[in-house]
Amino acid sequence: MLHVLELKRDVRVLEHENKILKSEKIECDMRTLVLQKDLAKLKETLSMKEEAFVIDFAKLEKEFLKSKQKVESLLVENNKLVDKLKQIESDLAANKCWNRSSQALNWLNTHHSRGRKDLGFEKTHTVYAKYRKYVGLHENIVCFHCGKTGHYRYTCLSRNMSKKETWSM
Ligand SMILES: [Zn+2]
Repeated sequence: MLHVLELKRDVRVLEHENKILKSEKIECDMRTLVLQKDLAKLKETLSMKEEAFVIDFAKLEKEFLKSKQKVESLLVENNKLVDKLKQIESDLAANKCWNRSSQALNWLNTHHSRGRKDLGFEKTHTVYAKYRKYVGLHENIVCFHCGKTGHYRYTCLSRNMSKKETWSM
């Protein structure tokens, strides 16, 4: 009799344990479901991100190619500009020589007859060669007093003014 009672008690304990295990199993199943849902979501977002990444990458590649082409064309332009600059520099050097020679010519023209305006002196008119390489221009005269162009030092207005001032002092 005592044995039967013991067995019954054991059965009750086992039943109770079984209940607990069942409820735990249900909870586990629910958790698995939630986890599966989360996994599906993650997969979706990952694939979306991957697509976006692919698109972004393609865009970036395009932009890179564009900027590369731009840089290349800029380099070509730059080379052209460098060539132009060289041309200009050589032109400038030639012009400098040209200025010096025309300045010398002008100086000679205006100075060789200085002080010979008396009776009997006929000022000779300078005849320029028609096909001369260089032509003397007014703008090429440089005043050594004020640095402006168009007149010589001895006709410089500012120089004459300052001279007068110093004389009157
Ligand atoms: Zn001057």
